Amino acid sequence: MGSVEQGFVNRNQQRNNGRTQIPGTDNQQWFYEMECLGCGHKYYANGSDIWQRKCPKCQGGRT
Ligand SMILES: [Zn+2]
Repeated sequence: MGSVEQGFVNRNQQRNNGRTQIPGTDNQQWFYEMECLGCGHKYYANGSDIWQRKCPKCQGGRT
């Protein structure tokens, strides 16, 4: 499963809840809603960053 597919969970236990309508900050990217399976925190990530994102709340990832 590709990292931009809804339901993808990366190695840090961060789940992709699907693409938003919000343009991302990387070139040609959209923001995706991410959810931490550890603490339930939700945040947005660029499509290109999903595979490596860490939770901003409990893993020290960037917001
Ligand atoms: Zn978390």
